[in-house]
Amino acid sequence: MTTRVQDLPTPSLVVEADVLAGNVATMAAARPGPALRPHVKAFKSTALARELVAAGHEGFCCATPAEVVGMGAAGLGTDLLLANEVVDRRRLAAMVASTLGSRITVAVDSPETVAAAAAAGVREVLVDVEVGLPRCGCPPDEAADIADAARAAGLAVRGVMGYEGHLMMEADDKSAKVAASMDVLRRAHEAVGGDVVSGGGTGTWDTNHAVTELQAGSYTHMDGDYARLGTPFRPALTVLATVVSTNRAKGWAVADAGLKALATDHGPPTLAGHDVWFCSDEHTTFAPTEGTPAPAVGDRVRLLPGHVDPTVALHDRLHLVQGDEVVDTWPVDLRGWDA
Ligand code: PLP
Ligand code: MN
Repeated sequence: MTTRVQDLPTPSLVVEADVLAGNVATMAAARPGPALRPHVKAFKSTALARELVAAGHEGFCCATPAEVVGMGAAGLGTDLLLANEVVDRRRLAAMVASTLGSRITVAVDSPETVAAAAAAGVREVLVDVEVGLPRCGCPPDEAADIADAARAAGLAVRGVMGYEGHLMMEADDKSAKVAASMDVLRRAHEAVGGDVVSGGGTGTWDTNHAVTELQAGSYTHMDGDYARLGTPFRPALTVLATVVSTNRAKGWAVADAGLKALATDHGPPTLAGHDVWFCSDEHTTFAPTEGTPAPAVGDRVRLLPGHVDPTVALHDRLHLVQGDEVVDTWPVDLRGWDA
């Protein structure tokens, strides 16, 4: 029996299947095959990762050991990069033990992360380099020492990674700023060796020409924040919600998806034809703009979240839709921290 969108419980994650397919195809044309290492943290679904394999990409970035384990268990372990620092040796060792058929590379940026990787039985690493964003990554002039320490510990060094996240939404002189940031990575790469230079994201998909592999993930679903950049990637994912209360006298309406259903760190969700006022635990309060009819109790709305990765991580499944029909449901099976 076909399920219709109006039959889904709310809140639910709804993905326009054709928009998702278009985003995947657009990126695969621009960054074909190994030129893209999609980041699974954006969608946390092995079913979606499988679509990316069908589009020609084989290597993936993961943010957690649990994502690595889940990808390996799903048979998607051709080349998995844990693009994140982990010092928990037990978790790393469990990851290695349960992904024996997979190729695993781990980011390191300190003697401690090198020691943890070596002790856990990891065989290959990338040196993570700070390229301007206050996140993980060693100072560029320490990259060679980290690489030496890794080699001394018996680890193979595949190259470098550096994430220029501070430039994703840059409006002025973006290309030049990305090039300068990636110059830092290029110099570190010269000192470290190896053949991998990994970095970039959805916001620098057409400006980062320095990496051998782009680490974008959000471009698949897109979100309200990235949509403002005017890329060819279109928002595919929304949070389906039901209007559960209206205040006609004061003009607002309340839908049943709030902070527990969507991330607001990049601002509140957007809703066509409406001003979204705020989200609270269980609710989003919004009002129609001029010319939009007043919402009625029972209406369905599709809220476009500002930030897709933490939104997806709040849900158990992704419903793929075409028109009114739910054509597939994918588990968000890479959720959580326990493998
Ligand atoms: N690489 C790393 C290490 C990241 O942390 C991120 C996002 O935060 C990305 C790449 C890019 O992801 P997006 O596609 O969301 O720009
Ligand atoms: Mn993000």
